[in-house]
Amino acid sequence: MSDILTCQKCETKNRVTNPPAGQVPVCARCGAPLPWLHDGTDASFAEDTRAGVPVIVDFWAPWCGPCRVMGPILEQIAQDMPGKVRIVKVNVDENPRSPAQFGVQGIPTLVMFKDGEAVDQIVGAVQKPLLVERIRHLQNLA
Ligand SMILES: [Zn+2]
Repeated sequence: MSDILTCQKCETKNRVTNPPAGQVPVCARCGAPLPWLHDGTDASFAEDTRAGVPVIVDFWAPWCGPCRVMGPILEQIAQDMPGKVRIVKVNVDENPRSPAQFGVQGIPTLVMFKDGEAVDQIVGAVQKPLLVERIRHLQNLA
């Protein structure tokens, strides 16, 4: 599944599929790394969570109030850290298998992946600075 990602530098809209292993999506016009937001699914979950940068999976649902708080925070983080993190939003109503696989009991739950493996989890809504700190920690892991 492809995403439309807007370049922060030149505002070009880029149609992006999952890039080759270890690469991040860049703007076709100016080469800048793109804020990497993706709607994940059960079918593509393994591929969605494999990236050369930390991946934050947001298990959410449209009816969940705290999820609606987390959504914009995650979008801001994608904008703040282009080429440094991938945000994958998984609607648990439409995709029940992936949250079951990771023992998700309630939403929002954020599961963080490094090199395709789940390494950290945050249950419930959190403030942006805490989330940024946890992502930086993942980036610093060798
Ligand atoms: Zn660009």
